Amino acid sequence: SVRVRFAPSPTGPLHIGGARSALFNWLYARHHGGQFVVRVEDTDLERSSRESEENILNALRWLGIDWDEGITVGGPNEPYRQTERLELYRGLAKELQERGFAYQCYCSEEELAAEREALMAKGELPRYLGRCRHLCAEEKAKFEAAGKKPVVRFKVPENQIISIHDHVRGQVEFESNGIGDFVIMKSDNIPTYNFAVVVDDHDMNISHVVRAEEHLSNTPRQILIYDALGWKKPEFAHISLILGKDRSKMSKRHGATSIEQYEKLGYLPEALVNFLALLGWSPSGEEEILSLEEITKQFSLDRVAKNPAVFDIDKLNWLNGQYIRNYSVAKLTRLAIPYLKEAGYLEGEVTGEKLIWLEQVVSIARNYISYMQEISQHVDIFFQDQVKVEEEDAKEVLTWEQMPVVMQAAATLFTEVEELTEESVKATIKAIGKQTGLKGKFIFQPLRVGITGRTHGPELHQIIPVIGRERTVARLRAMIQ
Ligand code: GLU
Repeated sequence: SVRVRFAPSPTGPLHIGGARSALFNWLYARHHGGQFVVRVEDTDLERSSRESEENILNALRWLGIDWDEGITVGGPNEPYRQTERLELYRGLAKELQERGFAYQCYCSEEELAAEREALMAKGELPRYLGRCRHLCAEEKAKFEAAGKKPVVRFKVPENQIISIHDHVRGQVEFESNGIGDFVIMKSDNIPTYNFAVVVDDHDMNISHVVRAEEHLSNTPRQILIYDALGWKKPEFAHISLILGKDRSKMSKRHGATSIEQYEKLGYLPEALVNFLALLGWSPSGEEEILSLEEITKQFSLDRVAKNPAVFDIDKLNWLNGQYIRNYSVAKLTRLAIPYLKEAGYLEGEVTGEKLIWLEQVVSIARNYISYMQEISQHVDIFFQDQVKVEEEDAKEVLTWEQMPVVMQAAATLFTEVEELTEESVKATIKAIGKQTGLKGKFIFQPLRVGITGRTHGPELHQIIPVIGRERTVARLRAMIQ
């Protein structure tokens, strides 16, 4: 059965790349009716924090990625934080040493650096050549007496080809000679990533390791550990890098990098998940707007591309705009309120009549935005008592000779209408035309400028009922004073 995992290092917020890895694992699990485990790789004590862990887990929850087993939810392989599983790694590191697969190394930083430099000068790969492999008891005792703390290194066999079948990259081969004896336990008795990840994946019965391509070069090391311990290896799938549109590594220049930033800007989780799924995976059909349910149904590793995925913020904005246009107005309004408060348009609790009115505002303004934070730039016409005319074209309309006639007629007729609805506004505009003998742009432009201060925008019959009679008439009168 399929058991996959997401194993973030809590050294910062959840980024686009991590979220994509989590999502692909989640999709793979859900598609196959398997399980998805989330555990925390916090062996980098200096850089790891509970705050980052919280941030990552919250971001996953916000995206709608849930997990069946792991951190916070528990399960049969508890605990799910590596720093709480140290005894397990320590015992296995000891076993590897007893069985001759690993050894203690006392080399100093300076010695290691000198070795690396010497190798590089010869044009060889910098690696550890195994100086401490054959330390005798006295030498060890001397180091110990001097208070040196050893690391534990894995003995990499010579002249081996390590090959993996990767679900994305196909057959990949590595030469063991290039690897060098690598550290599995640091001098503070904390395991390294390469060791702990193998122990956990085995312990948690992980069937498929789906992770970022940057870990491909770690895989041969991990395979050597599986083999030494006589453990069955999981299957691997390394998903491609994410590049910016200019083909350089994804960075802040290409848009926000953390999921939390997208949440703060008012992107919709459904849209972001849809976008993330398309970073390296493609559906079989043309349609790119797909629900999570649909993506889950279609998802397979066969359709994960080898070549880098390109992060295109314009595409995300387009996609998010599509979702905003199709979202429930009630939900969008709830999302819009904090931005409108921040912009000074609202304060206090928004309930009752006010909320119903605000929903109308949002249902119009949502047609002009890519993410919710932008909404405050498209609502001034609904909130201001007086309009400001700043646009050149609009100022020009103010000078038209038809302007006062239209304003006068409109002010009177809008005062007389019984109730402002889309229909009654349409009828009133017709009546203004009749009364003034004007047609087309000669009524619409003065009306639009008089009521909104601009020459473009949403349909008048949509906005006038929302702006309301009082403000509409006041604005029209102000124009002819
Ligand atoms: N902690 C690793 C990372 O965040 C996980 C790598 C893996 O999935 O094996 O990159």
